[in-house]
Amino acid sequence: MTTFSPQPQSTQSPPALLEVKTFAQRHLGSGSDAIAQMLDQLGYKTLDALVEMAVPQAIRLQQPLPLGEGLSEAEALAQLKAIAQQNQVCHSYIGMGYAPCITPPVILRNILENPGWYTAYTPYQAEIAQGRLEALLNFQTLVTDLTGLAMANASLLDEATAAAEAMALSYGAAKAKSQRFFVSQDCHPQTIEVVQTRAQPLGIEVIVGDHQTFVPQAPIFGALLAYPASDGTLYDYRPFIAQVQQQGGLVTLVADLLSLVLLTPPGELGADIAIGNTQRFGVPLGYGGPHAAYFATSTAYQRKMPGRIVGLSKDANGNPALRLALQTREQHIRRDKATSNICTAQVLLAVIASMYGVYHGPDGLKAIAHRVRQCTTALAAGLQHLGYDTDASHCFDTLKVVSDRAGSLWQAAADQGLNLRYIDGQTLGITLDETTTVADLEQLLLCFAQGGTLPVSLGDLLAQADVQVAPGFRRTSAFLHQPVFNRYHSETEMLRYLHRLEAKDLALNTSMIPLGSCTMKLNATAEMIPITWPEFGQIHPFAPLSQTQGYQVLFQQLEQDLQDITGFAAVSLQPNAGSQGEYAGLLVIRQYHQQRGDGHRTVCLIPQSAHGTNPASAVMAGMTVVPVRCDDQGNVDLADLTAKAQQHQENLAALMVTYPSTHGVFEAEIRTICQIIHDHGGQVYMDGANMNAQVGLCRPGDFGADVCHLNLHKTFCIPHGGGGPGMGPIGVAAHLAPFLPGHGVLSNQNTLGSHPIGAVSAAPWGSASILPISWMYIKMMGAAGLTEATQLAILNANYMAHRLAPHYPILYKGIGGLVAHECILDLRDLKRTAGIEVEDVAKRLMDYGFHAPTVSWPVAGTMMVEPTESESKEELDRFCDAMIAIRQEVRAIEQGQIDPLNNPLKHAPHTAEVLLADDWDRPYSREQAAYPLPWLRQFKFWPVVGRVDNAYGDRNLVCSCAPMEDYGTV
Ligand SMILES: *Cc1c(COP(=O)(O)O)cnc(C)c1O
Repeated sequence: MTTFSPQPQSTQSPPALLEVKTFAQRHLGSGSDAIAQMLDQLGYKTLDALVEMAVPQAIRLQQPLPLGEGLSEAEALAQLKAIAQQNQVCHSYIGMGYAPCITPPVILRNILENPGWYTAYTPYQAEIAQGRLEALLNFQTLVTDLTGLAMANASLLDEATAAAEAMALSYGAAKAKSQRFFVSQDCHPQTIEVVQTRAQPLGIEVIVGDHQTFVPQAPIFGALLAYPASDGTLYDYRPFIAQVQQQGGLVTLVADLLSLVLLTPPGELGADIAIGNTQRFGVPLGYGGPHAAYFATSTAYQRKMPGRIVGLSKDANGNPALRLALQTREQHIRRDKATSNICTAQVLLAVIASMYGVYHGPDGLKAIAHRVRQCTTALAAGLQHLGYDTDASHCFDTLKVVSDRAGSLWQAAADQGLNLRYIDGQTLGITLDETTTVADLEQLLLCFAQGGTLPVSLGDLLAQADVQVAPGFRRTSAFLHQPVFNRYHSETEMLRYLHRLEAKDLALNTSMIPLGSCTMKLNATAEMIPITWPEFGQIHPFAPLSQTQGYQVLFQQLEQDLQDITGFAAVSLQPNAGSQGEYAGLLVIRQYHQQRGDGHRTVCLIPQSAHGTNPASAVMAGMTVVPVRCDDQGNVDLADLTAKAQQHQENLAALMVTYPSTHGVFEAEIRTICQIIHDHGGQVYMDGANMNAQVGLCRPGDFGADVCHLNLHKTFCIPHGGGGPGMGPIGVAAHLAPFLPGHGVLSNQNTLGSHPIGAVSAAPWGSASILPISWMYIKMMGAAGLTEATQLAILNANYMAHRLAPHYPILYKGIGGLVAHECILDLRDLKRTAGIEVEDVAKRLMDYGFHAPTVSWPVAGTMMVEPTESESKEELDRFCDAMIAIRQEVRAIEQGQIDPLNNPLKHAPHTAEVLLADDWDRPYSREQAAYPLPWLRQFKFWPVVGRVDNAYGDRNLVCSCAPMEDYGTV
């Protein structure tokens, strides 16, 4: 008889389940067979052998990352859910520029949760970006109409940085030559702080004061006023505006967009600039972001406006077509002449806000604003009945309640899950919003009744409530009368409109987007799911820390993981984009020098090949940019670097260097480069945009960098969103940790050092609600998966370089003839041999169903290809086949077989309209135009417009939707 007895071993090792595919295996585009084939073609036996050759030994990390094993999607989601549940979702009445709102479900699912929208790139290739360009034009129209100003950009990072941008514009554009800028004490505190941070290195004196009593002692170049004020009060700014302008200064109003539905718009008050947050137009609070800020001004300053602007132009067939306007004006392209460094903005969130406007239309927005106003006046009346000192006559949605029991009332509300704003021991703030219900009002009033009952019926209060604002403030001008804001108010119509726009755009759900330096990798669905959990989405950035423990755990774990990955001692999650990380990192360096009595160290060395944001950030940090040459291999010229370091050794502040270089190679000399800077008293800032080539293989903190930003929207899987959101946290070595950014509103003790620089973002942890994406990625990949991803990114780039090299020279290579995770194709000779520009090839790629690689950066006339680890060998081959087929088409021109001006490249991209026209007189066939390779017959992406005429659009600038009259249907 057999008896069952447990085996002794089985109690020692856990019972083993059969293996199934891991997340890492899904994230990586190629499996072992495809990897072996690629390695074989490159002549390497193993991935390790290839990487050994490509990455200099001197910098290799000697041990695995201490990150543990990768989790499955379900495990990671369960762990994160447990963390999220440590957040307490309370109803926020805090206000301060953030209001709970309703994301219309049709927008939530079809934009925010839709890879067709969130995986798109910045719309530089306009012909395959008409959908989001239209959405952004709608956004600009929404902003210009509501603010009453002529021009608006397609978003900035947050309200506070937008205020700082307004100051910078005013500084450069005002007639008054002055170093003094007035900021009303009635602005939100975080806005004042970010403006002060920005002013300091520029030598601007910020005067914070009361506009009602302010008497300028000397001229000011500008003023910043809040409309409505932070405590809700409405002021008539007309006399103040006139007075500042008379003396040559510019006036900026920080205006709440929803209030402008009812209020006289800033433009009609005479303001030069209006800025603000658009969050309450359907974007979740998200503990501070991401949300789109807006920036509007008059046409007088359109060329000085920061950020991107969408404009109307026409295509090669004479049809209307949208594209980014006035691109040479973009600040980061102006390098050290820039007044701003903004690059990635908040496109996805601007799209959501614009669609909120489209879905509700002018009447819907009025209804929402009136209802908010109704609730506010009813609440004020109720509070007055209870004996409280408050007044709704000069406000929109925010009440100031004065009571000597403010502290205990605040606590009583908090105990019931209601977050009020605690202004001081005598004053509370209550801000209402579109989510406010009768039950909410009742709960608030009962809370203030302190155990008593309401002396009046809420129904009566609501019935008697005044839905108008005070007479002197009432808006009389119409807005949003354009067709787009009046057509899509049923869900069916809206759904189809969103789908139509989405279908015009090429995103990662169509094909690879091999943009060098932008790392367009997989944004996995499991990574995206948590961002719409209410435990992350519905938290106000200034909620008490006791309610946001889940977020604190998330931050600590993510900071620790990023420290382990980069080799740094501390991380700040505050900067909202790479550019903001650069700026914050340089401020940290500046503060370090100042604390050591080396405040004169202000020279920043920057290699010529650097990204334009680098010099722009340096100038904003009060530094003087000294360019350093690159050698003919694209490496930093060591002799020139040494000479410049010596020449400026007394005043050397920093070097900004990108690694691997912007030319896509691992410079073997990076340790020496860092050493030279340190020897001359400088600090090394590393631009970490290329971290995807390093994770698990080498760490900036180990080979000499002192600060580095990480673009979480590149290496760590936050989607590009069509041009934002992003996150640009910085890692620093131990000696710089005391200087990481602080934040006055929440003194976040756990990250605050002894001498913090001021806030660089409106919210303490930047765009907190997208951090779960990077957390999920790191936890699901684990140490081994992350390292393999880097190896595969390097293999894929080298495989493509190898396939394409016979057709297009590879501009720069490193050791062993290898590139890093991207490669530069040199197309400059095609101009000489065939009159073909790199632009022609970029547009022709659209006919093949691809988005072009990075064009003409860092070297004009080239393409920089970055495949990432997520693309399969099949996809890499399809892209290479397309590039090779295009080279064949160029050859036909070279050999005189086809006209140099009348050929498939010069006419690219081809629309269905052109190809289906009755007359076709071109020297190539329609088939060749549309189906040059066989797989296009399986799936064809059709560009909806032909080649866009940029010059025409800039000469005839139109940056908002055409008015009704232009449609002939007034
Ligand atoms: C993307 C990038 C930046 C800027 O990052 P943003 O998030 O767009 O501000 C800076 N440097 C390099 C090399 C980059 O590729």
